[in-house]
Amino acid sequence: MIVSDKVIIDLTENFAHVGEPICFDFQCKLDDGLLPYPDAKIVKADVHFEVTFVNPDILVKGKISCHIEGFCDRCLALIKRQIDLPFCQTFYKDSAEEEDGYVYSGSRLDATKAVCDEVVLSVPVSLLCKEDCKGLCPKCGTNLNERQCECDLSRENAFAALKNLKF
Ligand SMILES: [Zn+2]
Ligand SMILES: [Zn+2]
Repeated sequence: MIVSDKVIIDLTENFAHVGEPICFDFQCKLDDGLLPYPDAKIVKADVHFEVTFVNPDILVKGKISCHIEGFCDRCLALIKRQIDLPFCQTFYKDSAEEEDGYVYSGSRLDATKAVCDEVVLSVPVSLLCKEDCKGLCPKCGTNLNERQCECDLSRENAFAALKNLKF
């Protein structure tokens, strides 16, 4: 298994088999900065693609599985999670007319940017340890998933605490 920060697909076999999907499995290291979560990292990303040459373009379908480590937005618990992102993209044969969209040239398709874009666009905006995480008490910091603290959080106080949260 090759580990690289680039996703490069060699198309030689595809050119010999027009219209036939060819599997491509790859493990890569993606930039942690692609994630919208503070202090989170992408431990690794597994790419599983089916690559088809539909003369003259290349169709790439499959999924990207990002293994991430980060902290719950509400209670700050450490989270290790796999996020699967479906991927479907056409790469146009390199030509001057195609200014938008992804391109390839020769027998080499560099899908790195498309993969990074997919991660940026498709990962959930917030990272939660569980959907109904109760978070931390804004007064004493108790993890309310574990126990209820004694703090008096009247509605006004709770609202004031909400206002102080930075998004
Ligand atoms: Zn949580
Ligand atoms: Zn409390």
